Amino acid sequence: MVIHTTKETLMQALSLKRKNAGRENKKYRIGFVPTMGALHPGHLSLVQKALDENDTVVLSIFVNPTQFNSPQDLEKYPRNPEKDLSLLENIPKDLIVYLPQIADVYGAQAFSDHYDFQGLENEMEGKHRKGHFDGVGTVLSKFFQTIKPDKAYFGEKDFQQLQIVKKLVDIEKLPVEIVGCPIMREENGLAMSSRNERLTPQQFEEATIIYQTLLEVREEYPHHTLAELENLVAERFLLHPTIKLEYFEIVNENTLKPEKSKQPGTKYRAFIAAFVGEVRLIDNMSLN
Ligand code: AMP
Repeated sequence: MVIHTTKETLMQALSLKRKNAGRENKKYRIGFVPTMGALHPGHLSLVQKALDENDTVVLSIFVNPTQFNSPQDLEKYPRNPEKDLSLLENIPKDLIVYLPQIADVYGAQAFSDHYDFQGLENEMEGKHRKGHFDGVGTVLSKFFQTIKPDKAYFGEKDFQQLQIVKKLVDIEKLPVEIVGCPIMREENGLAMSSRNERLTPQQFEEATIIYQTLLEVREEYPHHTLAELENLVAERFLLHPTIKLEYFEIVNENTLKPEKSKQPGTKYRAFIAAFVGEVRLIDNMSLN
């Protein structure tokens, strides 16, 4: 494992590797896994897939300030780079860790650019976290320019982000393939998340209602209208007053927009955002 804290040394190292491979007429394939640290097996599943499909993998650990709409959320986001690095040390293959400071990514002032993701940015997380996807687009665009990866890996845990990154690459005509990876879950079904570190043991158990409800929605999906399913979810959360449902939506997977009724040939996915105490969790599940 090699650690870079500046984009300058990272770019030099990658360019040297590409040149050396080029001398032997080989293409050097670079996989990229962007993270905000507080690593867990969900992140490591992305790293594993990336290592399987590339000559090297760059994993970034950067809590991107521009994608947080709440200063308290940014402040409380779990950070533990020492623990992250010790986890990554167990990976035997060629791994490059990029661990920059804010100034290395943004210069003196961290601002985001404004993006038009053709409406994808206005649904769900976009509605509830204003400016979030501008921050995501800005930091990823910078990372893609620095690293120039052949493939970049994103979890379906953040399904809306995954669709937006595909759109970003399309809009900016970036030569990178975006690979979606399945959601890794705790034994109780809760989607793995860095934010789970902030849950008490009791909240950790209570939070499984999110997963349980998604499972129930998937089971009931063939027998009910979309409106009926929404009512069902509202009722389930009323039984668990310690968990505050922020939104439940069933949307068309491609447009991320809700529809009045199920259309044949369309893929639907259910999304939940909920507060467990002060901790905001999200999860989603394909329905058909
Ligand atoms: P984050 O550090 O939360 O920004 O996540 C970094 C990447 O890991 C994103 O592409 C996430 O979608 C992905 N990821 C986070 N949690 C999981 C999970 N439970 N399963 C699979 N991928 C995940």
